[in-house]
Amino acid sequence: MVGVIVIVTVAILVNQSMPSALKQAIAGLPYLVQVVLVILIGDLGVYWTHRILHAVPAMWQIHAVHHAVEELDWLAAVHQHPLDVIFMKAGSLFPLFVLGFSTEAIGTYFLVYYWQAYLVHANVRLNYGPLRYLMVSPEFHHWHHSSEKEARDKNFAGMISFYDWLFGSVYLPKGQRPKTFGVDNPMPQVTRLFWPTRLSHGHRSTNAMPSRAR
Ligand SMILES: [Zn+2]
Ligand SMILES: [Zn+2]
Repeated sequence: MVGVIVIVTVAILVNQSMPSALKQAIAGLPYLVQVVLVILIGDLGVYWTHRILHAVPAMWQIHAVHHAVEELDWLAAVHQHPLDVIFMKAGSLFPLFVLGFSTEAIGTYFLVYYWQAYLVHANVRLNYGPLRYLMVSPEFHHWHHSSEKEARDKNFAGMISFYDWLFGSVYLPKGQRPKTFGVDNPMPQVTRLFWPTRLSHGHRSTNAMPSRAR
């Protein structure tokens, strides 16, 4: 709850301090240019929000609900704690509203966002070939859910895999597939859908978090 209040307060303050000339210039850009920029900026927000959800222990307790899924399929996209949804949406949408992008461009981003969320969790074997360096494929996000040690706290991007290459958090071994998914101490089926308990991700007990040691 404190996190939500902080996000809303920061959003209001930053929004008021944003030059209106910049907002008008962005709103005046052609629709397709806005959509491209919205995807690039929105996914940068997703990347860092997601990385923080993994790196901060209290945030991980919330995000671990999503990682508790042990058999990955498209429904895993909605297996999230409500606070996880709020944080991820705030991290991606807040910069877009503050910068003044049109509602049409942001609406398009929403559609692409949800299509992508279901696609990357689906039980399909798509790796996108050379485009895997640019776009997040199902293979790329499946590795994010892997419980194998080398894959933990990797591949944070939602759409633009280049961000993980850029920020040194990519894990995409050629010709291999993740063997196991999930976290080390899964919650009981009934409670783990909505409420976090003390979960560990294996490496967390060894203090090897992405923002600390990786
Ligand atoms: Zn994650
Ligand atoms: Zn996921």
